Amino acid sequence: MNFSILAELAALIIIFILIMFHFDDRRSRQLRSRLFSLCLGLAVLSIFINILSVCVLDYYNQVPYWLNHILCGLYYLTSNLMCSATASYLFYLIFENTAETHCLKYALIIIGCLTSAIILLLVVNIPTGCLFYFQDGQYYHGWANYAGYAALGIELTMLLACFFRNRRLLPPQMKKIIRIMPPVIIIMTVFQLVYPELLMNGLITALCFLIIFISFQNSRVEQNTLTFLENQTTLYTELDYCLNKKRPVQLILIHLLKFGAVNQKFGYQNGNRFLKKVARSLENYFPTGQVFHVGNVEFAILHEFKSEEDALARTESARLLFSEPWTVGSFSSSLPAAITDIICKEESFSSGDVMERLQFGMDCAKKNNPSYLIHFDSSWNQLWERRNLLFQYMKKNIAENNFEVFYQPVFCCNTGRFCSAEALVRMRDPEGNLISPGEFIPLAEQAGLIGDITWIVLEKVCSFLGLHPELPLKAVSINVSAQQLSGSVLFEHIEEALYKYHVPAEKLRIEITERMITSSYAQAKEIIEKLINKKIQFYLDDFGVGYSNFKSMLELPFEAVKLDHSIVSEAFRNPHAFQTVGILVEMLHQAGYVVIAEGIETQKQEQRIRLLEVDRIQGYYHARPMPETELLEFYRNVNCCGEELGE
Ligand code: C2E
Ligand code: CA
Ligand code: CA
Repeated sequence: MNFSILAELAALIIIFILIMFHFDDRRSRQLRSRLFSLCLGLAVLSIFINILSVCVLDYYNQVPYWLNHILCGLYYLTSNLMCSATASYLFYLIFENTAETHCLKYALIIIGCLTSAIILLLVVNIPTGCLFYFQDGQYYHGWANYAGYAALGIELTMLLACFFRNRRLLPPQMKKIIRIMPPVIIIMTVFQLVYPELLMNGLITALCFLIIFISFQNSRVEQNTLTFLENQTTLYTELDYCLNKKRPVQLILIHLLKFGAVNQKFGYQNGNRFLKKVARSLENYFPTGQVFHVGNVEFAILHEFKSEEDALARTESARLLFSEPWTVGSFSSSLPAAITDIICKEESFSSGDVMERLQFGMDCAKKNNPSYLIHFDSSWNQLWERRNLLFQYMKKNIAENNFEVFYQPVFCCNTGRFCSAEALVRMRDPEGNLISPGEFIPLAEQAGLIGDITWIVLEKVCSFLGLHPELPLKAVSINVSAQQLSGSVLFEHIEEALYKYHVPAEKLRIEITERMITSSYAQAKEIIEKLINKKIQFYLDDFGVGYSNFKSMLELPFEAVKLDHSIVSEAFRNPHAFQTVGILVEMLHQAGYVVIAEGIETQKQEQRIRLLEVDRIQGYYHARPMPETELLEFYRNVNCCGEELGE
């Protein structure tokens, strides 16, 4: 049969066009892009060898037998390698979205085994002709000729199985590929059967690569469709590239604050115009760096690091840029932005490490009124590392139920007795040193670990109260974060713990601190009222600091208000504040609240605060927080010192 190489030539042209579009220095740094380059390279090689072997076959009596054999062998090898590389690429695409790296490893091992088997068959083919052989200038299939198709079949079956298993996690382009590719392959194969002399393998491959290229490899896939800046994926690749090459870089992150207000004021279309303007301005301002659009209202600039001064000047120009008003058409608006930058020199960071740090800096910068600017230097890095360490300790202590509870007795001014106590959580590091809850509780609140810690404290307090019903304490209060006042979990845990340890409900009090904004007062009120019905009273903690304290007081039914020690110490520093706090205490009394003063450390302070007629005093002067055993001892001693106990 005389083979026609026309289709193979067309395939070569298509693949050359793809190579020209695919060649982009930046994207070729991604593993996915490198795999695609390998596929294209192998495709060119195999098509080229195929064309060559067909041409040589036409002159079989002029060329030596071994040349035909070698060319056919090479074609068999390169076309199989190309199929394996393409399968690896597609597996990589699937598992890139599922994070099941072990599955990718297994798939690559199987592909490797199949390829090795083909290579082995090629070697065995030399003496046996099991794959193909030549007779009288004609090419004949050996008994194992379909081994290549079998390997392809196995790879395809595995791909389809992985696709269907993970289809919910895969991007729509992947689904499109799975929908488009099989019909294309089937149509082309039918065509091939009808016209066996037309060599179509190369064209099928080229069309498949074209579909893959359109879906995954063209540069628009890595661009933000609004600003045409490159997106977060490219930033990660670029950053990894620089970090691997130990190239010092500065990365600046810019987050537009309150951009929702711009959208509301001018409409979303104009909001988008502002974002486009920001994108173009950043490109113009930092022509030697790369600008990325990494989130809805977040941009990043990656720049080679030359000197500290140069880096500082760059952040400063970014700050200045966003301190000016922005104009789009007839609309003008300020676009305040929080800015964080980090310099990576010789640290062995991955892009993920850098971005986590920078995001932490950004979170702090957003809160850091009014400068909104943080240089993530070594001191910030220490903070970040400490924070990570605290997370680890917290998780470990939660898993091992290892938190301790200290109790601080509270002095009642009217009766001169220690009527109650506050339970304060304590955590130890692996060396056994105590870590202040002031340090780890805010973190636990952010990380969603606060519930676990509260339940441990609740359980320990109830078990202690259950074991010591003789303790002359009217109540022990536990601290609960405002964010926990939603859902029924708090109620259920409290009910369960009281029941389990036979503790009367009125022995438990709950102090609410608002370090984070309470989203729903209605919900919080419902829970508080439900617990009050069970005879569990609530205190408003840290009054005078934190978020909407006064609003909480108006909206929620508290029994007592605890004046934060910063308010109390201000009262001692400043006569006017002293007078004001006095009026506040009077007002609170009139409104029916019990008033507790926190942080009283000296006798003088104690005498002065009593002048303000607070009801109870909590502070180091009367008693420090102490472990259970010391608390029992404490009450034994105040008892034997003739203090009247119980309120
Ligand atoms: P807080 O609720 O205001 O607790 C009072 C804090 O003031 C305690 O700090 C206590 O040791 C300290 N303190 C008491 N008297 C004095 C004094 O005279 N001078 C000074 N300077 N400080 C005094 P601690 O134990 O370090 O707790 C800090 C914060 O951590 C607590 O403040 C509370 O907001 C939080 N916290 C503690 N335990 C828990 C808990 O189990 N759950 C939750 N959600 N938060 C807790
Ligand atoms: Ca408290
Ligand atoms: Ca407090």
